[in-house]
Amino acid sequence: MLKRRPTRDVKVGAVTLGGRHPVAVQSMCATRTQDIDATVEQAEAIRRAGGDIVRVAVDSARDVEALAEIRRQTPANLVVDLQENYRLAASVAPHVDKVRYNPGHLYHHERDKPVPEKVRFLADVARDNDCALRVGVNCGSVDPEIKGRHPDDDVQAMVESALQHCALLDDLGFERYVVSLKDSHPRKVIEANTRFAAARPDVPLHLGVTEAGIPPEGIIKTRVAFEQLLSRGIGDTIRVSLTLPNPRKHEEVLVGRQILDDIGAGRFRSVPVFDDDRLNIISCPSCSRVENERFVDLAQAVKEMTVYAQQHALTIAVMGCRVNGPGETDDADLGLWCGPTHVNLKRKTETVGVFGYDEILGRLRTELDALIEARSGSVLVR
Ligand code: SF4
Repeated sequence: MLKRRPTRDVKVGAVTLGGRHPVAVQSMCATRTQDIDATVEQAEAIRRAGGDIVRVAVDSARDVEALAEIRRQTPANLVVDLQENYRLAASVAPHVDKVRYNPGHLYHHERDKPVPEKVRFLADVARDNDCALRVGVNCGSVDPEIKGRHPDDDVQAMVESALQHCALLDDLGFERYVVSLKDSHPRKVIEANTRFAAARPDVPLHLGVTEAGIPPEGIIKTRVAFEQLLSRGIGDTIRVSLTLPNPRKHEEVLVGRQILDDIGAGRFRSVPVFDDDRLNIISCPSCSRVENERFVDLAQAVKEMTVYAQQHALTIAVMGCRVNGPGETDDADLGLWCGPTHVNLKRKTETVGVFGYDEILGRLRTELDALIEARSGSVLVR
């Protein structure tokens, strides 16, 4: 049995999140949302594997049309992940059980409109459509105003952003929400969720290490974070984010269930402390926004090609799309984000260039060698 915090109930379709209920497991479809057959098949595979909630991405009116049909064809509890166009919530909410918004993206869209007004819109839509909300804060896309107040503490910036949105929703009398605070480093996930849970013990938490990457490293990072948090009763639903090809996407749920079973039985395996002084490859789990399916193979190839650099404390990020890729690679020493025909290569926030899928590995190697050479002999602290 897992120890639980007494968080409040939040109903998401047929499942209820919160301290009085089992920890729910969720995953996300990586198929194109408009490919209805493939998305329904993947949603069902996730459900059969033990997934309680299935997330899909929606970016356009045609995605919304597809979503309506997906809803008809699967009994899965569905969640939609909104990007910057928060107003799409009005058309997706009738077809789903929960809507996730990112406060950082909300900040960027319609800058002239005050954020509280946008939150009111989302709360009204959710209420009118019997939906829950998730305030999904990501370290890579925190509201810049809040980030500016905490230039040296990005964990606190995440926590403050989440707390701000909880206060906005509370003021509207809307309580049917959960919060997530995600980063690709398990230490930050542990810190952020621990601080948030201390400040808001009543709010259910969705746990995840974002862009954890390819197994087994992606599983290790996730396990390190989940063991620390769930063993203290923190966490009401989990998502394991792994870079996997589409036919294996449901394995995220199997891994999540295994971690829950192990913690419940007192089998703590993590404690290989996640090393900060070695090469760290992060890669997104992919979703319908991937425009070239070579992304998963590329992430695997980057891992294999960089084995020689294991002893260097550098981070390489490999992201699947132009929506989150440009921002989520900013903190990495070297970042790759994939377009339909080319891959963009970055050094921190600076763009190095755009390269074909066949040439990117060679170019990455050149950049990696140059970084190692430039840093050799110095003590690297991250
Ligand atoms: S980076 Fe893009 S493709 Fe990858 S999970 Fe995020 S939105 Fe999907």
